[in-house]
Amino acid sequence: MVHRWKATGIVRPEPAYPRHEFTFKRRLERIRPDREKLWPSTGIHEVGVAVSCLPTGTIGQYIGIDAGTDLWKKSQPDHFITGSIDYVGTWWDGSPWVDDLKTGKNPPSPRSVQWWLYALAVHRLHLGNPDHVTVTCTHWPRYPATGAPQRPPELLATITRTELMKFERHIRLKYEQWEEIRYQATLNPDILNPGEKQCLYCPALDCPSRWSEE
Ligand code: SF4
Repeated sequence: MVHRWKATGIVRPEPAYPRHEFTFKRRLERIRPDREKLWPSTGIHEVGVAVSCLPTGTIGQYIGIDAGTDLWKKSQPDHFITGSIDYVGTWWDGSPWVDDLKTGKNPPSPRSVQWWLYALAVHRLHLGNPDHVTVTCTHWPRYPATGAPQRPPELLATITRTELMKFERHIRLKYEQWEEIRYQATLNPDILNPGEKQCLYCPALDCPSRWSEE
């Protein structure tokens, strides 16, 4: 509901949460957040992106606020990493700008991996080969109910072109490794089962299938 309002200015009830509409409308009346200031209408909302891990570096984008974005993402070939960007605009310094609205208690850093993918997608889509992408997180937690959307300095960062090129090399390498494992699995399907070699360096400590010596 909050994301739809961000994108359109419209509050639409969600059948699963019938009371949220009233609460959210009351909150908007109290706070009167300035949508235009937070997300200028020169930008675009709810952009689905798909970044290829192949050297061709292709990219796709889909704009919409309905379930179509998820369907579009699922329909991409497996060499694409997909994501949904809440807002893409132009920052005050002229750089491309990616914003993500978070409503949880503790907002993540805008330099966490989610933004790296978004920044890479936006950088690839930008025709000017900019030297950096501005990344922000807008924090609007559910509580306190009187709280307004915030974008403090710690939720503003940049990701440079050089960093994005490095990140691009990283995702290509990971894809190549994944392809190699997929090929090896056609020769020996057992390597996909949990086991001493497979789980030894895996960071998923809480995995229920984790191999153990016991
Ligand atoms: S610990 Fe779990 S996720 Fe990690 S390799 Fe083993 S089975 Fe896979």
